[in-house]
Amino acid sequence: MTRIAVYPGTYDPVTRGHIDICERALKVFDHLVIGVADSPSKIPYFSIDERFDMLQTVFASNERISIKPFSGLLIEFARECGADVILRGLRAISDFEYEVQLAGMNRSLASEIETVFLTAAQRYAFVSSSLVREIASLDGDVSEFLHPDTLARLSEKLKNTQ
Ligand code: ADP
Repeated sequence: MTRIAVYPGTYDPVTRGHIDICERALKVFDHLVIGVADSPSKIPYFSIDERFDMLQTVFASNERISIKPFSGLLIEFARECGADVILRGLRAISDFEYEVQLAGMNRSLASEIETVFLTAAQRYAFVSSSLVREIASLDGDVSEFLHPDTLARLSEKLKNTQ
């Protein structure tokens, strides 16, 4: 039996925290579907196409990872992917309350799907897409937290919007 997990997120943009979670997940699951959420309520900085492209570049060489955009209910997306696990990453305590609420809600909607949490390496424990964007917009060095392609695209976009 192939174990498929869906890893949903906004990825605005993908960070080394996300990448670290994906690498760890591949030790546990056979295949990972990265679900790029439309997230209109978050008003993402990058369009869904840009976020999708950045993920494609980062994971291009990995046959065990596929990237798919989605906009509807997460559990429906997981079912479409043939996944019985939703993967989420946990950072500090602040993530915990929302994530447990989300997992509980998804369980009540789809009891056959389990939510699994992983934590990233310590050096990425405080990395978030929004902080990385903010630091970069103030000319701070975020190269440690992004894939070189993502870094180049973020720098380019900041240059064009400032
Ligand atoms: P969302 O809008 O769904 O929170 P994100 O792209 O911000 O989308 O995050 C997707 C998932 O990855 C979430 O479960 C988030 O907690 C997790 N995540 C993001 N950054 C990190 C990190 N540095 N370490 C561990 N988990 C992370």
